[in-house]
Amino acid sequence: MLAADGCTAARNRRRRMGTVMPTAPGRTCSWPGCPRRAYDRERHCEVHRMQYAALKGKTAARGYDAAWREIAAAVLREEPFCRFCLAAGRFTGAEHVDHIRPRSIGGTNERINLRPLCASCHNGRTRRDQLPRR
Ligand SMILES: [Zn+2]
Ligand SMILES: [Zn+2]
Repeated sequence: MLAADGCTAARNRRRRMGTVMPTAPGRTCSWPGCPRRAYDRERHCEVHRMQYAALKGKTAARGYDAAWREIAAAVLREEPFCRFCLAAGRFTGAEHVDHIRPRSIGGTNERINLRPLCASCHNGRTRRDQLPRR
């Protein structure tokens, strides 16, 4: 029978499991007061890597917001009326600056890619853009 082979396999399995050793390469986490080891080539430990990334993401978003507000204000100074409404003969004050080519597909903040829209035109357009493309 195969009983002897089964025992050998089980012994081998046990031996392999014993060789797995958690290693902690790299230096200490650079998060203030954290004694944990940083990941290989990372500045932070497992926990703080996420927190640091979240913090950095927020900072970047704040910087983007400030820059964007300035750009949008300049566009609205230049074109105070909704471009869609104006085309239809209505003078509606623009409240939003819209990306003609959406940023999600590579549109930029360049003036040529920006147009002022009123709230309702902007909302209509945003909804339309979110529909799946065929
Ligand atoms: Zn840490
Ligand atoms: Zn409009």
